[in-house]
Amino acid sequence: MSEESHHLSFAGEFDCLPEPLPTLRHSTSHVMAQAVKRLFPAVKVAIGPAIEDGFYYDFLKAEPFAPEDLARIEETMREIVKADYPFTREEMPRERAIAFFEERGEPFKVEILRGIDAPVVSIYRQGEFLDLCRGPHVTSTGQIKAFKLLSSSGAYWRGDEKNPMLQRIYGTAWLTQEELDKYLWRLEEARKRDHRKLGRELDLFDFYDIAPGAPFWLPGGMVLMRELEKFARESLDARGYQEISTPLLVNKRLWEQSGHWDLYQDNMFTLEVEGDVFSLKPMNCPESTYVYKRALRSYRDLPLRYSEMGRCHRNERSGALSGLVRVRQFTQDDAHLYCRPEQVQSEITDLLELVREWYATFELQPSYRLSTRPPDKLGSEPQWDQAEDALHQALRANGLDYELDKGGGAFYGPKIDIDVEDALGRQWQLATIQVDLTMLPERMQCEYIDADGQPKRPVVIHRAIFGSYERFVAILTEHFAGAFPTWLAPVQARVLPISEKHAEYGRRVFAALRAARIRAELDDRNEKLGYRIREAQLRKVPYVLVVGEREAQAGTASLRRRGGEDLGAVPLERIVAELTAEIAARSATLTVGRAG
Ligand SMILES: [Zn+2]
Ligand SMILES: [Zn+2]
Repeated sequence: MSEESHHLSFAGEFDCLPEPLPTLRHSTSHVMAQAVKRLFPAVKVAIGPAIEDGFYYDFLKAEPFAPEDLARIEETMREIVKADYPFTREEMPRERAIAFFEERGEPFKVEILRGIDAPVVSIYRQGEFLDLCRGPHVTSTGQIKAFKLLSSSGAYWRGDEKNPMLQRIYGTAWLTQEELDKYLWRLEEARKRDHRKLGRELDLFDFYDIAPGAPFWLPGGMVLMRELEKFARESLDARGYQEISTPLLVNKRLWEQSGHWDLYQDNMFTLEVEGDVFSLKPMNCPESTYVYKRALRSYRDLPLRYSEMGRCHRNERSGALSGLVRVRQFTQDDAHLYCRPEQVQSEITDLLELVREWYATFELQPSYRLSTRPPDKLGSEPQWDQAEDALHQALRANGLDYELDKGGGAFYGPKIDIDVEDALGRQWQLATIQVDLTMLPERMQCEYIDADGQPKRPVVIHRAIFGSYERFVAILTEHFAGAFPTWLAPVQARVLPISEKHAEYGRRVFAALRAARIRAELDDRNEKLGYRIREAQLRKVPYVLVVGEREAQAGTASLRRRGGEDLGAVPLERIVAELTAEIAARSATLTVGRAG
C-alpha cells in the first residue's frame, strides 16, 4: 500500500515506513509545510507522504507556486532546520481533533478525520507548526541536512478530478550531501535522456493531441522498430516459434467467454457494428486459442509456440498517459506456448536463456522474481507443486539468482517477472513469463489427446520479453541516450566531402556503403566541415567518413567515431567490411577501425 493511502485512510500502524530514508523524507515534508504556512498563511494543508526518492506535500492555494516561491520556501526550510525544533507527539480523541482542525480552518484534515474510525489520533508538532500524523519522524528538524525542492504541479485531492485541484510541491531528501548530489545528477541526466525529448530531436517519434497515447512513428523510429522486429523474428524462427496475427476488432462474445468482459471492460475500447458490440483487443491471449483449436491436437504436436506482434489497445485515462511508457495503443512481443505439464520446465528453461540472450544484446542487466501460489488460487495442489517446481528448476538450470515472492502469483498460475537495470541504474519491469494452469485452457476449452488416448488440458505459457515495442524503444532511447548501437542506429554512417572538389569521390564512397546495405547519408552541403561534423555528432551518427584529396587518391576515408574519436585514414574496403560485420553481429559497441 502506498504511503499516500496510509495518510488518507490510517491503514496500518504508521503513516510512513519506519526506516531511515522514508522517515527522513516524510519529516522533511512536515518542514516544507511549516515553511509554506509561514510564507503563505492562507494555504490549507492536505497530506505530505514520503515517496520513492523523495516526498511531496499538497496545498490548497489559488495560484500555482512560482519557481521563486520554491526558492523562498527552501530558504525558510533551512531556517527551520537551523532552529532544530524537536518533533513532539500528542494524542487527542478523534472528536476533539475534528473540532480542533475545524477551528484552525484545515478542511482536508477534518475530512480525513471524519473518514476514519480511530478513537484517538496523534498530532505532531515542531515549532509553531502541527500536523495530523502517525509518524514516525526524526527527533528534531536539525537532523534534516541534505534536501532540495524539485518542482510543483497541480494534483487533485485524493487523485480524483471531481475534487479540488491542489498545488503539490515535490522535493527530495537524503542522508548525506553526497547522496543528494548523486541523485540530482541522475535526475539531470534522465532529463537530458528523456525519450520524449530525444524522440522529437532525433526524428524517431512524436505525439499529437489528435491521438492521445499513440505515437506517430517517424522514419528514424521506424528503423528502430523494424530492426527490433527483425531481431525478434530471427531469434524466434530459430527456436521453433510460429508467428500468427489475430484480429484487432473482436466481438464481445470472445471476452465474455475469456472472462475479460467482467473484469476488464472499463479498459476496453468498444464500438457497435451492425448491432453487435465489438472491442479493440486489449490482449492477444484468447484469440490465440482459436489457432490452437483449429485442429485436433495430439500430445506429439506439443509444444506449440505461437508468437504474435500483437497490437493492443487499452483505454488508459488521458491524465495517466506518458510518452511511449503509458500509451493507449501498443505492440506486444507476445507468445503463447501450449505444452504438456511435464514440458513446462524445459520450455521455461529455454525461455530464460532467450531472455538472457536478448537483454545481453542491449547491455541491460536483468533480475528475476518468482511469484508463487496466492491463497485464492484455481487448480489443484499437485498442479501448482509441479508448476512451481518447474520454475525453480528452470531458474537454477540457468544459474540465476532470484527473489521469491510467496503468494504473489496470479490465481491461475505462478510467474517469473524480470526487471532490467539501465545505464542510469533505474529499474524497469519488462518481461513476464506466466504459467497458466487453468484460465485460458479451461475457459477457452483447449485440449490435446494424450498418449493414453484421453483428452487433457494443455498448460499455456504467456510470455513477452520486450513487453511492448513502444515501451522498449522508450527504455532503449534513454538507456543509450539516443546513441544507439550501429545495428539499431537510424543512420549508421555519414559521408562528408571536405569541399565541392571532392564531391565526386564522396558520392562513390556513399554508393559503396549503400551497396553494402549500410544506412548511409551524404552530407555535401555547402557548409564548413566543422559544422557538418558537429551536426553528425548531434544526430548521434556512429561513423563519419570525411573525404578529401588524399583520401580520394588512396581510396580511403578519414574515419570519426561517435564521441569524437578520430581514427585517421582507413581503406574504404576495410570500413565497409568491418561495418558490415559490426552490424551483423549486433554489437553493442563501435568496433570499426579499431587497431589490430
Ligand atoms: Zn508526519
Ligand atoms: Zn497471454
